[in-house]
This record gives sequence, C-alpha cells and structure tokens, in this order.
Amino acid sequence: MLPPKPPLTLLIAAPRGFCAGVDRAIHIVELALQRYGAPVYVRHEIVHNKFVVDSLRAKGAVFVSELDQVPDGVPVVFSAHGVPKSVPAAAETRGLDYLDATCPLVSKVHRQAERLVENGRHILFIGHARHPEVVGTFGQVPEGRMTLIESAEDAERIAPADPDNLAYLTQTTLSVDDTAEIIAVLERRFPLIKGPRGEDICYATSNRQAAVKAIAKACDALLVIGAPNSSNSVRLVEVAEREGVRAALVGRASEIDLAWLAGVRTLGITAGASAPEVLVREVVEFLSSHFEVREEEAEGPEERMVFKLPRALAAA
Ligand code: SF4
Repeated sequence: MLPPKPPLTLLIAAPRGFCAGVDRAIHIVELALQRYGAPVYVRHEIVHNKFVVDSLRAKGAVFVSELDQVPDGVPVVFSAHGVPKSVPAAAETRGLDYLDATCPLVSKVHRQAERLVENGRHILFIGHARHPEVVGTFGQVPEGRMTLIESAEDAERIAPADPDNLAYLTQTTLSVDDTAEIIAVLERRFPLIKGPRGEDICYATSNRQAAVKAIAKACDALLVIGAPNSSNSVRLVEVAEREGVRAALVGRASEIDLAWLAGVRTLGITAGASAPEVLVREVVEFLSSHFEVREEEAEGPEERMVFKLPRALAAA
C-alpha cells in the first residue's frame, strides 16, 4: 500500500489571471488569423506568457521583435504593451495592414503624455527601464520631454531644469505601494507637480496585489503563476514577500520544486494578468498528485471590465 499523501490546503487568490487587456489582445490575434489566414505577424510577445505565445504560434502567428522582420503584404499585430508612434508610422509607410492590440488603459497613458507635453510640462515617468510599455510610452512624445524614475532614490536625486513645470505618469503594472512612495517624494520635492486624475496603475494590477495581501497572512508560502518578464507577475511575488511570506514565480506546473514546499501546510496560489486559468488548474492537478489537497477559493471583487475590439475586427 502506498503511504498516505501529506495534507496541503490551497488558498487560491481572487481575482487572478487574465485581465481585460490581455483577453482583448489574444482575441485580436485569433480574429486576425480567422480574417486573414496564417501567417499573422505579431510584433513582440502579444502578452508576456510563453504558454499563450506558443498556443498562438501553433495557430499560425509569427512573433518578431521588430517591424522590419515582417514581410511586405502580411498583417501585423502590435502587442498589448503599446508601441512608440514610430512603429505604426513605419507600418503605414510600408502599406502594411496593422492591428493595434495596445491595452486601452495603456493608450490612455499615451494620450495623457501627449497632452502634458503639448501643455509644456516635462514628464517624470515612473516605471521600469526597457519594459516594452515604457518604451512605447516614451515613444509618444519628442525625445527629452520625459525622464524615467525607477525608484524613490531616483525621485530624490532628479534635478529638473524647470521644477515648477512638471507632471508625473506611471507604468500600469507597478507595485501600488512602491509607486505611492515615489509619488510622495515627488510631491514633497515639487509641490506644483501635476499628477493623473485617476490611477495609472490599472485595476487588474491593483486588484491582483490586493488579493495577494488578503491571503498572504494565512499562507506558509505562495506561488505566482506567471512569466519572469511579466511586470505585474513579478510584483505579486514582491507583494507576498513584503507580507512576510515565502513566494516563488513559476511559468507552469513542471517548474514547481517539491523540496521548496517542504513543511508547507497552506499554499497560496495566484496568477499574473497574462497567465491563463488553465495553468492554475494544471498546478492544482500537479499538487493533487503529490498531496492530499483541499482547495479553497478566496473571496475577491468581481471584475467586469471588457474592452472593445479595434473597429477593423469588431464585426469579424
Ligand atoms: Fe491592460 Fe492592466 Fe491588463 Fe496591462 S495589466 S493589459 S494595463 S488591464
């Protein structure tokens, strides 16, 4: 007879996983494949998740890092993270059919940046260097009109030429707590700085961070399902650790290290905004084969956000 499996309670965060922007971006690629047939080119990973990218690749999507890798005469989709203005301009010059899957909440930040610069403000942009969303947002305004602030130390050090004529904006997928700290420094140093009317950190990012905080104290460890290049997923690991819980990021079940779970009685599970629910189920099944699992779904706010498709695909 096999020895009994050790007990493990799974506390599953809510909300978790796909947000409305990711859902829309994936749908855009699928509809483009239906409408134009394969191949459909996609500039950059449509969302930061290998499973999603591999599934779309199997249906005929071709992922490239730059527009000049797209042959003439084939459609191209821009990823959910947004692109600099130069990218659609180059696609137009080449006569390429393009579909923009930029999340509408990222586009909103783009429009804010344009307006602030038109009004003569210099923008301090709170975000992470080289993240595609940051590259895309910097590409909305002329060079030199926006400065990246990555930390409270950067905010303390910055010496702008015209300190009375500043504004700040943020990446959508930041840590809510770190960003509040950076903004507090900027507002203390530059009392006339202008901030966004609503939050730039999106509803999905803040809801998923709040959901981790809500379960962290009841967990011995917490697993975040997501990719290492997914900003919002990495932030979820940090949020758990700040709550005093050991946390790890895994792409999928096969990456789980059973030794890491030694002594864990209650394991929290969540998923970043670009990780599909099927990967959560895969993790639960994997754990069920090693432990006597009791699954508990946390309570959290229901998300009803749905974004419209681009006009070119709306009737597809
Ligand atoms: Fe849009 Fe937020 Fe999702 Fe990014 S995480 S795609 S900003 S809803």
